[in-house]
Amino acid sequence: LKKHSFILADETATVAVGKHLAEIVKTKLKQGIIVYLNGDLGAGKTTLTRGFVQGMGHVGHVKSPTYTLVEPYDLADWQVYHFDLYRLADPEELEYMGIRDYFNATSCSFIEWPEQGQGMLPEPDIIIDLVYLAQQREITFSAHSALGTSLLSWIKR
Ligand code: ADP
Ligand code: MG
Repeated sequence: LKKHSFILADETATVAVGKHLAEIVKTKLKQGIIVYLNGDLGAGKTTLTRGFVQGMGHVGHVKSPTYTLVEPYDLADWQVYHFDLYRLADPEELEYMGIRDYFNATSCSFIEWPEQGQGMLPEPDIIIDLVYLAQQREITFSAHSALGTSLLSWIKR
């Protein structure tokens, strides 16, 4: 299991990591990824995803899908799905949402509170852990597939 961590000094640094991941997907991997995001409320999961969504070419607002469970971004060459499963009552609900149709070679899924969807989600390529250190955060990436290992190898820091 490959791991990689470093410190994020502020919100801007967290957004920049999301943008960096988008560049790696577009120019190096050239295929979609599945990312699980772990961390307490306010740790920066949505902030990082915002950077990714913008890096993939979305212009405009990125809202937290706390009540809608998923926010889709249909971009020119890619689909990005931002899940927040905090309020998911039952993993079965994902079945009714047509969760299977979300995962393919040109889609990227960033999933907050993935444990809430246990049994209904595909395995991640990488897991990102965000941990509080006052205003800073520590970010840890771990690879969970060959694609995830490749992604990790491109992360600069
Ligand atoms: P989550 O989705 O994990 O609940 P959010 O990304 O919605 O968290 O919120 C993170 C909050 O923490 C924001 O209000 C942001 O301004 C603040 N913050 C402070 N320092 C950082 C940092 N280093 N990285 C990310 N967010 C930070
Ligand atoms: Mg969030």
